[in-house]
Amino acid sequence: MPDKPDRRGEFALIRELFQPLADAEHGLSLKDDVGFLPPVPSGMDACITKDMIVEGVHFLPDDPPETIARKLVRVNVSDLVCKGAVPASCLLAGAFGPGADDGWLEAFAAGLKDDLATFGLALLGGDTVGTPGPTTLSLTAIGHVAAGQLVRRSGAREGDGVYVTGTIGDAALGLKILQGEFGEVALGPRTPLVARYREPEPRAAFGRYLPGFASAALDVSDGLIADLAHICEESGLAADIDFARVPFSSSAQRHLKKDRALKLAVLGGGDDYEILFTAPPSAAASIAEASGETETAVTRIGQVAGGEAGAVRVLDEDGSPLDIGMRGFSHG
Ligand code: ADP
Ligand code: MG
Repeated sequence: MPDKPDRRGEFALIRELFQPLADAEHGLSLKDDVGFLPPVPSGMDACITKDMIVEGVHFLPDDPPETIARKLVRVNVSDLVCKGAVPASCLLAGAFGPGADDGWLEAFAAGLKDDLATFGLALLGGDTVGTPGPTTLSLTAIGHVAAGQLVRRSGAREGDGVYVTGTIGDAALGLKILQGEFGEVALGPRTPLVARYREPEPRAAFGRYLPGFASAALDVSDGLIADLAHICEESGLAADIDFARVPFSSSAQRHLKKDRALKLAVLGGGDDYEILFTAPPSAAASIAEASGETETAVTRIGQVAGGEAGAVRVLDEDGSPLDIGMRGFSHG
């Protein structure tokens, strides 16, 4: 790590900020060269994912460091839970840039501590370096799912409903607010949108129910349409979305009602970290039950259909296709 008077060296950073968060049994409290992989409970499969976030790309340089840590954890947790897996353990890699001074690192570690506890992740190890470039953070997360029950992208069938949890577009609007696209604003009523951008809420409780009914699933990180196109591509099918059924939060609606083009644009916005899944008509009661049990809003927004694999059509109220001019709309 480059010499910086206002920042701990690598060893002090690990010792003072990361060791207190680590798993003692399997992570050996980060006091050794390796950790152990915790045993996978019998009847379960382990699955693994890794997501990186980069300053200036996935978070803004002046975002609060606690929220950056939580975003790092949550984007990974989102990948696990959208497959029906329960988060179990993780490894952290940080390349900390010049802006990450001691105060920043302490706040980052505090945010990390919160979310490791919130989502039940044991910290097993990692790596820490300094960089003259943007701060770059990566988590490798391991989850457990009932053996053979992992919900893939590839299982959608013609006639399945397309469902999404929560609301779409909040994070995309939050980013626009932070980027000043709506002018210089007091963050008052717009704060929920900014919060959604900075700290996604992975649908951990609902995700556990997915293996019971979902034919395919993923988390919405690239934008609703592009992500549905991923399911369609892997399943060799197309899908139709009813634009009027796409759920928007009341905060989002305040921005969107004036601007239909913006409403269409946020379908491609990304960063929602909601679960998008498909399920057969026979699953309706189980979905409603999971939604009620976990207090998670679930909306049926369309259906899986035959057609060009990967094509997603967005239909207006009168059933006519909207040209939303974005990736995922059509590969034709
Ligand atoms: P080495 O130089 O032998 O790779 P390190 O000093 O990099 O060892 O790491 C010492 C221990 O601290 C290892 O167990 C490593 O996994 C852990 N570690 C280092 N950085 C982090 C981090 N950012 N988060 C979690 N664990 C870390
Ligand atoms: Mg190392």
